[in-house]
Amino acid sequence: MIVAESKPFKEIYELVKDFSKICVIGCGDCVTVCHTGGQKQVEELAIKLRIAAKRDGRTLEVKEETVLRQCEQEYVTPIGNYINDYDAVVSIACGVGVQTLAEKYTPARVLPGLNTTFMGAPVEPGLFLERCAGCGDCVLDKTGGFCPVSRCSKSLLNGPCGGSMEGKCEVAEDVPCVWNQIFVQLDKQEMVHCMDDIRPPKNWSVSTGSSPRRLEIKHLQMEKE
Ligand code: SF4
Ligand code: SF4
Repeated sequence: MIVAESKPFKEIYELVKDFSKICVIGCGDCVTVCHTGGQKQVEELAIKLRIAAKRDGRTLEVKEETVLRQCEQEYVTPIGNYINDYDAVVSIACGVGVQTLAEKYTPARVLPGLNTTFMGAPVEPGLFLERCAGCGDCVLDKTGGFCPVSRCSKSLLNGPCGGSMEGKCEVAEDVPCVWNQIFVQLDKQEMVHCMDDIRPPKNWSVSTGSSPRRLEIKHLQMEKE
């Protein structure tokens, strides 16, 4: 899932300071699980914005809306009935949701209410940990299902650095060394000999940081035609 955290309220309030009629739009998917962008958070943010505006002697109308999935054009279609009646939209979806609204409803002002952080998993109530960096060339088959790209502080692909100590990463005591986890897992699987394999340089051109990536699924494209 995509993990995102709320921007500080002060920052959001500053974003809408020049507007008198705004819409706060949430998303019913990942950010609802994160408790940062669902229906409840839409209501809370709208109330806080109204109170802050009233305190400052400003008029601020705030509409509340939550769509099932803000990153897909189809799901945001109903918003089209009114979005351009508002001075601005505060989207509390991930950055993909914000951009879906901005592109579909240009020239509407769509402002981000969240900071999108990583792809991760909830490991206990209120704790999300990064699990995938979207590198475009998955190596989990060779690492016992533990991702060295996102979970090693140095993204090392051929074993641990010299700082691994008693299962912990050298960067912080509460960060497990993923290469220790990989070793333990491969040992359980009787695959520990894989640790001896030398992996060739990774193809980073398919990862983020090159050019915007695209995925074409031919049979879906043919259905469209
Ligand atoms: S190896 Fe790449 S694709 Fe696989 S989990 Fe790690 S970052 Fe994600
Ligand atoms: S201690 Fe382990 S997780 Fe930390 S940087 Fe070194 S190999 Fe990576």
